[in-house]
This record gives sequence, C-alpha cells and structure tokens, in this order.
Amino acid sequence: MTQQALSSWGRVLTSEQSLISLTDRSNNLPNLPEMAENFLPYGNGRSYGDSCLNSGGAALLCRSLNRFINFDTVNGVLSCEAGVLLAEILTLVVPQGWFLPVTPGTRFVTVGGAIANDVHGKNHHRTGTFGRHILGLELLRSDGQRLFCAPDQNQAYFAATIGGLGLTGVISYAQLQLQRIRSPWVSTETIRYDNLDDFFELCDASDQDYEYTVSWVDCAGTGKRLGRGLFMRGNHAPAGELKNYQSKTRTFPLVPPISMINALTLKAFNTAYYYKQIPRQSRQIQHYEPFFYPLDGLLEWNRMYGPRGFYQYQCVIPTATGKAAITDLLTAIANSGMGSFLAVLKLCGDVKSPGMLSFPLPGVSLALDFPNRGAKLHQLFERLDTIVSQAGGRLYPAKDGRMPGSLFRSGYQNWQAFSTYIDPQFSSSFWRRVMEDK
Ligand SMILES: Cc1cc2nc3c(=O)[nH]c(=O)nc-3n(C[C@H](O)[C@H](O)[C@H](O)COP(=O)(O)OP(=O)(O)OC[C@H]3O[C@@H](n4cnc5c(N)ncnc54)[C@H](O)[C@@H]3O)c2cc1C
Repeated sequence: MTQQALSSWGRVLTSEQSLISLTDRSNNLPNLPEMAENFLPYGNGRSYGDSCLNSGGAALLCRSLNRFINFDTVNGVLSCEAGVLLAEILTLVVPQGWFLPVTPGTRFVTVGGAIANDVHGKNHHRTGTFGRHILGLELLRSDGQRLFCAPDQNQAYFAATIGGLGLTGVISYAQLQLQRIRSPWVSTETIRYDNLDDFFELCDASDQDYEYTVSWVDCAGTGKRLGRGLFMRGNHAPAGELKNYQSKTRTFPLVPPISMINALTLKAFNTAYYYKQIPRQSRQIQHYEPFFYPLDGLLEWNRMYGPRGFYQYQCVIPTATGKAAITDLLTAIANSGMGSFLAVLKLCGDVKSPGMLSFPLPGVSLALDFPNRGAKLHQLFERLDTIVSQAGGRLYPAKDGRMPGSLFRSGYQNWQAFSTYIDPQFSSSFWRRVMEDK
C-alpha cells in the first residue's frame, strides 16, 4: 500500500495517507496498515479544511458503501449505506413525494459525512440539524464491535457519533426520517435589505411562516451599508402543474495561476449582486436544485481561488451577543478588503441536536470564504477569533483549517466527555491540532 495525497474542499491542505476503500458493510474494519498510525473515514471530501484529513494515517474511503437498503414510501423512512450521496437520495425520493429533512448547501456530500458533521441548512430555525432526523445508525469499531446506535439504544455512542467528526468509528449505514413534499418546486421570495437591523427584523418576521430562510450579505459594505444584503425565504410549493426542469451543471475549467478574487473584483461584484434585482422584493417558483444548491451548478468552483486555495470561516454567536459581534466581524472583514462573494448570514434556532459536538447554537451564524493570502489573512483570522471568543461563540470544524485549540475547546465544552468515545485507533489532523495546547 502506498501513501497518496488526499485533499479537502478548500485546497489549502493536503495530506499523505494510505487509502483503503470500504466496499462491503458486513466486513469488519481492516487491520491498520504498517505505515499508518490510525484511521479516519473519508466521505466525499466536501469539508473545507483538515477535519476529513489524517496526515500520516489511513483514510477509510466510504463512497463505495453506496447501496440503498430499504425505503418505506408510506412513512418516509430510508435506510442506506453511509457512502450514499444526498444527491442520490434526492433522485430516488423526490419523485415519490419525499425530501431530505435537512440539507447543506451542496448535495454532493455523503450520509456519513452529513452525520459526522451534523450538518445544518436553511431550515435550522425550524428543524435543527441532520442528526435530529437520524433514527439509527450502525457504528463499526476497530475492536470488531458493531454497535447499533439510536436515540434509545447505545445512546451515548449515538450522541458522540452525531457531529463526532468521524472519530468514534465508521458509520456503515443509517436510517433517516424524510419529510413529505407535494412538489419539487419551492415558492421563494428575495428581499433586498439595507443593514443588520433590517436582517434581524426580517428574521423575526419570517421564521414563523417560512421553512427556509438565509441571507447573502455584502461583506464589503461599510458605514450605513454594513450588513446589507439579500434575504431569501421559501416554502415547498403546493402540488400543482409539474413544470419540466433540466438540471444544468458546468465545470470550472482550470486552476487559474492566481485567485480571481481580490479587493476590486469583490467590491464590484458585491455591489452588482446587491442590486441584481430591480424591485426590492421579488417572488419566484424555483426548482429545489438552484434554490438549495446554487453552487452545485458549477462543478469544481473551488478552483477559482487559484493554486493557494481558500479558507472558510464560519462562526455562530449566541443570540444575546449576536448583533454586536456580527457588526464587529463585518467591520473587520470590510476594512481588511479580503473576504468573498459567498458570505452567508443565517439565524439558527433552538431545536437541540442530539450530538455532543454539534456546531449550531441558538443565535446567528456568519460564513465567508477567504482566498489564501498567507500571513495577512491569518492576522485577520486572529482578530475575528477574538471577537467570536469574547462573544461566547464558536467556529464550525467542517469549515475550519486553522482555529487555535483554545478556541475549539472553549466553544465545545463537551469535548472532554466526547473524547472518551473516540475509537482508540481513530484520529484526524484536525483533532490532533485542536488538542494542542494553544
Ligand atoms: C459548497 C458547500 C456548501 C456547504 N454548505 C453547508 C451547509 O449549508 N451546512 C453545513 O452544515 N455544511 C455545509 N457544507 C459542509 C459539508 O456539508 C460537510 O463538510 C459535510 O460533512 C461533508 O460531507 P462529505 O461526505 O464530503 O464528508 P468528508 O468531508 O469527506 O468528511 C466529513 C467528516 O465525516 C466523517 N465521515 C465521513 N464518512 C463517514 C462514515 N461513513 N462514518 C463516520 N464518519 C464519516 C469524516 O471523517 C469527517 O470527519 C458545505 C460544503 C460545501 C463544499
């Protein structure tokens, strides 16, 4: 077996690992290869930093665990192997009137990856995280144990595995409760708003009546324009005439020599995007694909940031300190001239996740991509970290490739309890980094 390079979505970090493909869920885990110190499952590599990497270890590639096991079309309960993509589930279930209970902004993630990061989506204020809709899962441990975990069975392992960053063992399959829909279309509204106060007012006015809410924010806006953006809200459309929809995807053709994103393109794009619709409020019926997965239309868009790649910074700040902290974060980002077109602001709700290390908390989340500009960018991250930490917030491991251990440990106070459920033969580059005493 040879060591091979494995990369994550941000393309900043790669790691040399032994690659082992898991193909049969009835097999036990293989023995650790000689040159590897430990295992880490790998789904579809849609995590941005090093939480799906295990430098010097072995990657247990789970994509080939891709079989559907059972679909109860009356009650919407789906059992499938953990390497099945959310995209594959949608292809199966949408024509039968079912939909994912929670989905992240890309459908190219595996069920195992969605559980291990306990992903959230535009309906977090209503339905919480992905893990809340898992009825059960099977966990394979390196000592040969096969634990069926559910909210009322092996409960502690269930809680540790949801949001457990792949460290508690390999999820071989899971049972998922889907939600009923009457149409694959979504009734949406987009509202242009002027500042952060307007954002919070729109959340208050929308969270009750709209299943999905999210906002694009102009991260280059300062002064009176600070926090301005486009607020999007939507509900699954009622049954009706089914229009045809042709899924469209293109591929970003190459890795440009330098990032295509700089202070000038950023400001120009953001201003144009902010005014992209003439009326302040517009209504549309959209197919679920462009509504939930606008970025999936351009495959490999991560190449746009050039050979040095990019980082994402996603934090969540508790309600009490949310507005002040987001003001400070946006001010620091706008003043730095760095930041991205893809800046997302979302109010998270109080539906509790069963997961011990789940990211969302009741409050407000901000997510932004940053082209990798080396030391200058890391100085900005340190400033942002201070704001997040003083506001009692935390960063999302799925999107992280650099947070100091102290920030992880202060944000995730269950980390010590969680660590007792880690499989002794499992580790990750992320986990080793955040356990360092910094
Ligand atoms: C464009 C884009 C938009 C996104 N939007 C969102 C969003 O809105 N909300 C959100 O929460 N996240 C979002 N994400 C992040 C993404 O949803 C998560 O990182 C997801 O977990 C990636 O799944 P994956 O299958 O690619 O897993 P990987 O990235 O390969 O791995 C993720 C974790 O899962 C573990 N894992 C994988 N398979 C298994 C298994 N079988 N058993 C045990 N552990 C396993 C890995 O060890 C790792 O810790 C987005 C990512 C992208 C690229």
